[in-house]
Amino acid sequence: MAIAAPIPEIMHPDAPDSVVARLRDKHGRAITDLRVSITDRCNYKCVYCRTGESGAQYAELSIADYLRMIREFVGLGIEKVRLTGGEPLLRKDILTLIHELRAMRTLDGDPLDIALTTNGHLLAKLAQPLREAGLDRVTVSMDAVDPTTFARITRVPGSYGKVLAGVRAAKRAGLEPVKVNCVLLRGFNDDQIVEFAKFSRDEGVIVRFIEFMPLEEGRVWSPDVVVPLREIVTRLNEFMPVRTLEANTVSETARRYTFADGVGEIGIIAPVSQPFCGHCSRIRLTSDGKIRTCLFSQSDHDLYGVLARDGSAEDARDFIVRTVEHKEARHHIGEPGFLKPSRSMVHIGG
Ligand code: SAM
Repeated sequence: MAIAAPIPEIMHPDAPDSVVARLRDKHGRAITDLRVSITDRCNYKCVYCRTGESGAQYAELSIADYLRMIREFVGLGIEKVRLTGGEPLLRKDILTLIHELRAMRTLDGDPLDIALTTNGHLLAKLAQPLREAGLDRVTVSMDAVDPTTFARITRVPGSYGKVLAGVRAAKRAGLEPVKVNCVLLRGFNDDQIVEFAKFSRDEGVIVRFIEFMPLEEGRVWSPDVVVPLREIVTRLNEFMPVRTLEANTVSETARRYTFADGVGEIGIIAPVSQPFCGHCSRIRLTSDGKIRTCLFSQSDHDLYGVLARDGSAEDARDFIVRTVEHKEARHHIGEPGFLKPSRSMVHIGG
């Protein structure tokens, strides 16, 4: 596992007399990327994600509470904030949140990189207001580009047209690059690989295939259901030869490809067949204000509880630093004794 030497302290440019710690775990990984779930509710019941029998299980907090916590993370070196859920566009006050995030500055004095992960159902109307509030870019989850399969997966009739309109509105609003994430399940939607390749080329979006992880509410996952990176590349090559593109950053999760003619971009995120934990720069905050140091953590850490008990900003920062230090080295998917995490994906915030 490639791990950089620890650099625990730097000077904050705006506060030359104080020394500010940048978040780094005990394995030497710099933590710069925060994902915040702003609601546990979702308007889709994707069959590989939710059982369809239960709704939200955890509380959601006020926008002011999320801002208070995010501010402390940013003061410790977070540079990217991704809003997620549940379904984040169900929060009416998301525009206020983004507007406030836009005004924050990283430790280097730069604006935050603000991104959103959404199922896109409500995006057509919201894309332009989100852009105006200060959102940089959007990732839309789509597990098929065929309306019938799409509705079968989401369990919401007519959902495909809404999401397609959302993707197009996001492009028009300049929420670029628009990324479309597809979780592939063997025998279920793996016939969509080539269709998604065409979609990327026709719509001018980056399509990213994600290997299915054991993070579902029910019991769907097995190694056989995972469509691994190598197989996806083979299928793409059968459609049209692909060539690799350089990674944008060392902690980028996706392997990037384009086609021989340079049109279209495909990313493959392969946490199961080719894990990238050694370069993980992420930390998560759940809708009820708990820190999760890994998608596969067995417990979470109650940051909101620190503040609710009248903790100061300093208490919150100490709590964050101590929690991040103990971030897990890696996940153990597929190994004997693997335990599913204490929350499933929809209740963590993907
Ligand atoms: N509702 C938003 C959305 O649909 O993008 C945000 C939350 S959703 C849980 C975030 C992402 O997690 C979606 O792209 C979904 O496909 C993905 N996801 C859910 N369960 C997964 C699993 N078991 N393995 C990999 N990705 C998963």
